[in-house]
Amino acid sequence: MKSRYDEQPIIGVPERTSQTLLTSALQPGFEHRLVCYYRPLPGPLMNLIDVSVPLDPNVPTYPGNTPFSIEPMMRTGRGEHANVSSLHMSAHTGTHVDAPWHSLNNGARTESLSLDLLIGPARVIEVPVRHGITAEDLEPFNLADETRVLLKTPNSELWGSPDFHADFVGVTESAAKHLVMCGVKLVGVDYLSVEVFHAPGAPAHHTLLGANVIIVEGLNLRGVEPGRYDLICLPLRVVGCDGAPARVVLRRS
Ligand SMILES: [Zn+2]
Repeated sequence: MKSRYDEQPIIGVPERTSQTLLTSALQPGFEHRLVCYYRPLPGPLMNLIDVSVPLDPNVPTYPGNTPFSIEPMMRTGRGEHANVSSLHMSAHTGTHVDAPWHSLNNGARTESLSLDLLIGPARVIEVPVRHGITAEDLEPFNLADETRVLLKTPNSELWGSPDFHADFVGVTESAAKHLVMCGVKLVGVDYLSVEVFHAPGAPAHHTLLGANVIIVEGLNLRGVEPGRYDLICLPLRVVGCDGAPARVVLRRS
């Protein structure tokens, strides 16, 4: 079933072909800024897959976290000179990263997450299990050479629903240890937590964050084929926090 989560609006791309404009722009007398603006796009737009979930009041909220809302502070419709909103949300709303401090008292905070890890080659693997993912589930994928691994599970089908689904597929302690032993430095999951819901002691968080593995939660991997991509994960540059919302894009490599 198609839902709004499948939509990928693209704004700001000129419909005219870049080649025509580039040719004319190269003629003498054209200003340089036009050349820059209309230079050929680096490739077909569909090479980019937005795997972030839209933030609106229907995005499901992890129990106990602040639901997402937009508060109107100023509105042109009320005669004010601009539209200005306040955002209310948890640091773990929708697609977001977890910093080690989320689970570890002395762990690093969001400002310490390395862009070198947040951007780079990634592998999407599909784990179609309904139970918590175990080390045995991951072993066949041979992850020893992977730095970034995104786990696609049946969770991605849950994104059409505004309700929180506690029966989502999480990562067990054995799988978390397996990922650390493989040398994986970034793990992405396709629902609001890497943890099996209410797992005592949150072992997946402790194992991964304790090894300084970046956790990306809340990815929508629906429609994403398993394989290799370039990951671009850009959390907001929030200082001193346990997590931060992120825009996450995959580029087919
Ligand atoms: Zn989180």
